[in-house]
Amino acid sequence: MVERNASRVQIKPNAKRQEGAQLNPGDQAGPGTPGTGENICPQCQGRGRLEEGRPCPDCGGSGKIIEGIGGG
Ligand SMILES: [Zn+2]
Repeated sequence: MVERNASRVQIKPNAKRQEGAQLNPGDQAGPGTPGTGENICPQCQGRGRLEEGRPCPDCGGSGKIIEGIGGG
């Protein structure tokens, strides 16, 4: 039996959230969330618009999304 040392990672279920922060469907977390970062929206390549000229629904037209940063 191997005992896992879980003390390295602290999971906070009640972590602070930015109330009122606008999340887009392409966002994986709110702005400022630890372990996440801004990235170019893969849906519109950062243009904020789709090829048809419609606003990108994933990033809400901002051209950026918040996604989790894969550590390691
Ligand atoms: Zn987009």
